[in-house]
Amino acid sequence: MTKRAAVILDRDGVINLDSDSYVKSLEEFKLIPKSVQAIAALHQSGWPVFIVTNQSGIGRGYYDEAVLAQMHAQLYKQVQALGGDIQAIYYCPHHPKLECECRKPKPGLFQQLALEYEVDLSQSYYVGDKITDVEVAQAVNAQAVLVTTGKGEKFVEHELVLKHAVPIYTELYEFAQHLLSDTYIPKQYS
Ligand SMILES: [Mg+2]
Ligand SMILES: [Zn+2]
Repeated sequence: MTKRAAVILDRDGVINLDSDSYVKSLEEFKLIPKSVQAIAALHQSGWPVFIVTNQSGIGRGYYDEAVLAQMHAQLYKQVQALGGDIQAIYYCPHHPKLECECRKPKPGLFQQLALEYEVDLSQSYYVGDKITDVEVAQAVNAQAVLVTTGKGEKFVEHELVLKHAVPIYTELYEFAQHLLSDTYIPKQYS
């Protein structure tokens, strides 16, 4: 079977507003404007959309997997209401001190996703707002994309971003619009 390309998204700071004190409840799960529209547009144009997110707040005891499932059920509902879909959401629930293989910038969740959904990561994008998102994208040979929502503004001049000319967008919606436009030129990898 031919492996397919995908758009993989970080969650906090890309789809919904990030919080320094963690997104701990459904009430705190607030969407960034047009992020759901962006996901729907990508899906409708044939891009499978995935989410890979660190949720160490679970391991830290700030919220549990049932609350996370509520947030994600709401997200699916809103995306599907616009004719979109999310293929799967992968998350690391662990406390950083466990040093697990699934917490970004470790590549564990990406490898699992690639295997389970036959995704070719080298043809795929990972959109994030932190330098660890850029790092993990590069570690799995995916195209890193930085958005300046969430924490992204802090990293626009990071040496890794500059060195690899990581494309920067003001928000997920802008990236989606560009990717789906006729003028999009896929980046060349070295
Ligand atoms: Mg983030
Ligand atoms: Zn983990």
